[in-house]
Amino acid sequence: MSDIPAQRGRPHSVPRDVLGPVAPGPGEPAFDDDHPPRRNLVDDCVHCGFCLPTCPTYVLWGEEMDSPRGRIHLMKQGLDGEPLTPSMVAHVDRCLGCMACVTACPSGVRYDRLIEDTRQQVERRHRRPRRERALRAAVFALFPYPRRLRLLRGPLRAYQASGLRRLVRRTGLLPRLAPQLAALDSLAPRIGPAGDIPPRVPAQGRRRATVGLLTGCVQRAFFPEVNAATARVLAAEGCDVLILPERQGCCGALSVHNGRRAEAQRFARGLVDAFDSAGIDYFVVNAAGCGSALKEYGELLADDPAYAKRAAGFAGTVRDLSELLVELGPVAPRHPLPVTVAYHDACHLAHAQGVRTQPRELLRAVPGVELREIADPEICCGSAGVWNVLNPEPAERLGDRKARDVLATGADLLVTANPGCLMQIAAGVRRLGGSLTVAHTIQILDASIRARPVGDLLR
Ligand code: SF4
Ligand code: SF4
Repeated sequence: MSDIPAQRGRPHSVPRDVLGPVAPGPGEPAFDDDHPPRRNLVDDCVHCGFCLPTCPTYVLWGEEMDSPRGRIHLMKQGLDGEPLTPSMVAHVDRCLGCMACVTACPSGVRYDRLIEDTRQQVERRHRRPRRERALRAAVFALFPYPRRLRLLRGPLRAYQASGLRRLVRRTGLLPRLAPQLAALDSLAPRIGPAGDIPPRVPAQGRRRATVGLLTGCVQRAFFPEVNAATARVLAAEGCDVLILPERQGCCGALSVHNGRRAEAQRFARGLVDAFDSAGIDYFVVNAAGCGSALKEYGELLADDPAYAKRAAGFAGTVRDLSELLVELGPVAPRHPLPVTVAYHDACHLAHAQGVRTQPRELLRAVPGVELREIADPEICCGSAGVWNVLNPEPAERLGDRKARDVLATGADLLVTANPGCLMQIAAGVRRLGGSLTVAHTIQILDASIRARPVGDLLR
């Protein structure tokens, strides 16, 4: 059964990504007229190179065409009529979409818009090799569907608990035979209790706002404790929390960030239908990648007359959890939590949404928390949605680099606001033989508000 809530309103046309790519003929220009990268945005780049040191792929390979400037040059070539070559596609595919270049750029180049438009052209117009197509089909048939992911919990738990995982790892065969499966194996978190969340959690004390809460896909299936902590903290801070777990599906972030625009639009319409008449003041998100996509719903559905206005209105209510908590100000008392915390800026929170100070402010307000900064915070950890599954080798190198910087802080806990980063950095720490507990920002606040012992977090 589909996870997408039943759609109301007009029937939607068959999306192009379901029909498969329509490859251009030989020598045809790279881009068609359906949202090509915008020339005026390409022309904004003055080739200064300030973005290069912040780009993880340039840091890894030192190749101009794997830098933001190089990719913008390739887009320009495409607009000038060059065909979409496998090499051009490879350089586009290697971009993590981390948006570090957007914040680094002094000329305000909207690389985020450029790469999104380029990727949807690539997805529609480039026919990938069979193996790659099969891998992508499998990834996108699984990850944006929380109920399908939930079905994996049982087998994964048995695999982890039975000793089979240790055996598989000892053979060392998996990375050689199936590197993508090996990546999934190394990333998978320890599966805890499923823990269902009720459709509504009432505010404690005076109600200050009514909020919708996105439960997400990976977050809902593998980190249900983060959603539970989010609902508890919001309620303790005076919010009525509306969850509607039966009505909400994927927000479309994974799809839009990978060029699957029509699929992302379907998911976005479903979420707008589920929440825009629910009487909420804010729609709260606790996963960085999802938040950045949700804030762009107005743009994503701009061409759809039935949804454009509703989507833009809905996007205006979207808040990262830390943004809303700072906006509201604390009312629930914080109890001491003596712990050192290294805070990792998730790219889609820091670079894509500009949310850096709020999580730190919330953490510093907990008595006993000592906050430590991680070196090179602008460099992505290599998670980037499913980039680490599609590109396991470079993702591992970026993960190890980040894990080393995190371990160097000497903190007890790594805290961040994205499930992908949590899994990626935890895997890097394990590979380096280190030991460090990871947690979402909201779990620190929840533990402090509920006066839980710090040992609960460090288990
Ligand atoms: S989005 Fe990230 S990986 Fe892509 S070009 Fe910009 S800095 Fe490099
Ligand atoms: S994207 Fe911005 S920082 Fe990078 S080369 Fe172009 S103008 Fe310079």
